[in-house]
Amino acid sequence: MKSVYLAFRAAVLHFLDDPDNDLESPHLEYFPDGILLTHQGYIVELGAAEQMLASLPADCELIHYPDHLLIPGLIDTHIHYPQTDMIAAYGEQLLQWLETYTFPTERQFADKAHAREVAEFFLDELLRNGTTTALVFGTVHPASVEAFFEAAEARNLRMIAGKVLMDRHCPAYLQDTPETAYTDSKTLIEKWHGRGRLSYAVTPRFAPTSSREQLAKAGELLTEYPDVYLHTHVAENHAEVAWVADLFPESRSYLDVYQQYGLLRPRAVLAHCIHLDAEDRACMATTGTAAAFCPSSNLFIGSGLFDLHLTKEADVRVGLGTDVGGGNYFSLLRGINDAYKITQLLGKKLSAFQALYLATLGGAKALYLDDKIGNFAVGKEADFVVLNLKATPLLTRRLQHCQSLHDQLFAILMLGDDRLVTASYVMGKAAFKV
Ligand SMILES: [Zn+2]
Repeated sequence: MKSVYLAFRAAVLHFLDDPDNDLESPHLEYFPDGILLTHQGYIVELGAAEQMLASLPADCELIHYPDHLLIPGLIDTHIHYPQTDMIAAYGEQLLQWLETYTFPTERQFADKAHAREVAEFFLDELLRNGTTTALVFGTVHPASVEAFFEAAEARNLRMIAGKVLMDRHCPAYLQDTPETAYTDSKTLIEKWHGRGRLSYAVTPRFAPTSSREQLAKAGELLTEYPDVYLHTHVAENHAEVAWVADLFPESRSYLDVYQQYGLLRPRAVLAHCIHLDAEDRACMATTGTAAAFCPSSNLFIGSGLFDLHLTKEADVRVGLGTDVGGGNYFSLLRGINDAYKITQLLGKKLSAFQALYLATLGGAKALYLDDKIGNFAVGKEADFVVLNLKATPLLTRRLQHCQSLHDQLFAILMLGDDRLVTASYVMGKAAFKV
């Protein structure tokens, strides 16, 4: 019989709190030769191998990863699974990109068999990239969410998803109504929210594609089910912001549209948040609303530069997202790479500690899941990633010239992508292995 205790030996790094850009006291624990001990999928202990080896439970199975770094599972706070097949589409910015590529692709998700096949591929790809939790858009079709949750449940993944609400300004074949948006979402919430490791997100696509009546229905759902999520987009692109100003002249700002319908609250997560002002950021902070910073898609569809510093200084929770298919890769390591460059273009800094925090414990806080995932605190769920520090000749060579832990981690993040991921573990079990 297999042991219920599993011990993983490697270099281990995780965050205890937000390191900001402080290189001196970055609120982390690092063990160059550490052991992470798990029991039936939960974290039991973390420490130096030297100390822990002698006291491991007698029936413990020890899995050794020399030349590897073990970090908490990466958390993607904004991604669209139905857009997997249109990733890397040429030449358009947001509104034309939706018309040209997104809507025709999403149409196919009326077919549950198709949705199921894409969901399986999507989850494989997340795990291959070290992402163990994500906040995920479905399509307008309830079947798209059924298929996604069934696939995620079979793998015991901690996932959040929802059916898109969209009753105007899109092709008729993708439209719901305020009433069906409400009843279909309600049915999905009753079936899936809180089932195993799954949670539901009420998911209006964005303000332009929902009528006032539909936004009010979304607010009703949140009142009825206060612990579900709200997942949407805000202030991504200048043309979009101008359109919202035309459509909702009664609102002070784009963000204020959501505030007026009671959508801003803890567990509300807004993708992009690029073109906001100080009053908007203050509103997000006071309502407990989180921002999903999506560097790849912001660059890929030319939307703009998210100011991480202004957002964090306003005390807004921030996580990282890939926004596939507006983003052109699944890897949050690559996302960190682009986040660093965006920050540089704004004349500011993003430390390796801050960047990895955003993809782990910071993401967990943005999703209000930091009591369950995000670091290796005792009692948390054992979702983690094993990174190969000799994955490429260049990485191997660069890591021989490091002066500090920060230097080492920065090189890993800037040179890293899916090639580094040796294994992704979900509740202590290998869900992906090279
Ligand atoms: Zn998006």
